[in-house]
Amino acid sequence: MGYHEYAFGKYAFKRQARMSHQHYWKPYPAKFCLAAVLALSLVRAQPSGNNNLEVLPLRPNFYMIAGAGGNIGFQVGADGVVVVDTGSAANADAVVAAIRKVTPQPIRYIINTSADADHVGGNAIVAKAGQTLFTGNGGAGVAADFLGGGASILSVEEVLTRMSSAGSGFALNSWPSETFNQPRKYVYLNGEGIEIFRQPVAHTDGDAMVFFRRSDVIVAGDVFDTTRFPVIDLARGGSIQGVIAALQKLVDTAIPSVPIVSRDEGTLIIPGHGHICDQVDVVEYRDMVTIIRDRVRDLKKQGMSLAQVKEAAPARGYMKRYGAGSATNDFVEAVYKSLSEKP
Ligand SMILES: [Zn+2]
Repeated sequence: MGYHEYAFGKYAFKRQARMSHQHYWKPYPAKFCLAAVLALSLVRAQPSGNNNLEVLPLRPNFYMIAGAGGNIGFQVGADGVVVVDTGSAANADAVVAAIRKVTPQPIRYIINTSADADHVGGNAIVAKAGQTLFTGNGGAGVAADFLGGGASILSVEEVLTRMSSAGSGFALNSWPSETFNQPRKYVYLNGEGIEIFRQPVAHTDGDAMVFFRRSDVIVAGDVFDTTRFPVIDLARGGSIQGVIAALQKLVDTAIPSVPIVSRDEGTLIIPGHGHICDQVDVVEYRDMVTIIRDRVRDLKKQGMSLAQVKEAAPARGYMKRYGAGSATNDFVEAVYKSLSEKP
């Protein structure tokens, strides 16, 4: 009865979860609460300072933290801890405490999926709690004791550009210490390949998705948000085509449970916000985004203004599920303007 049985047997833990604890997790969609119950029963990690953090064991050496801002994923092993995103600044101490409850291993790497404050806000505190792998060189040409020799922070180049720009509000010790600009970056830690896919001009101009190949988990960042329509930040270089391309990359990378579809197995995808997903969930989300993009494009081709397109409700059928607050308005507007900018 242990940990492995639970971690590998998603189907088993879902059955157990249905038994008694669901009422603890009313605010969350069904899938999410089931996983959260598992976390509660296994880790009992309720860090002080934030009672809303949940630690979900997804694999024997892979965990998700929900409730700290954007979703966080972390991998644990003999090399130390690799953390994808660090949540909001206000929750950083609680994130460190949550990781500490799982493992005493040092935090070695932080990988950021964008420059958003709810994903990089905890960088400084989480990095400081860790220790770089590099003894002679802290990466990016800085000495190991620079910034106290904390964990390395890895991102696409644009994240550093955003965070280090005047008025960004991010302190020097939260900035990435290693950046890349090629389509794929990889590291090999804790016995598995970790691929980082740069997603240009998607949610912003600085997005990345992180694929843990052996754990079979992808941390998607805000190109995929199950709580709402995707946020396309045009002012920071986002575009609808890039979001669709990123979702397609997720679909192409993930593998569902086939041919035995009754098994609740396959690649797990952690969205930027919302519940843990599988490939089928991403396919549905990609289709939804594509359908709305096509509708907006067709209306625009008819010569409609932005106001007229909004009036025509191109997001109909999806607004109840994804359109909370200003999400529908923001999304339709971003799609329209994004298409306008393309030839
Ligand atoms: Zn976010």
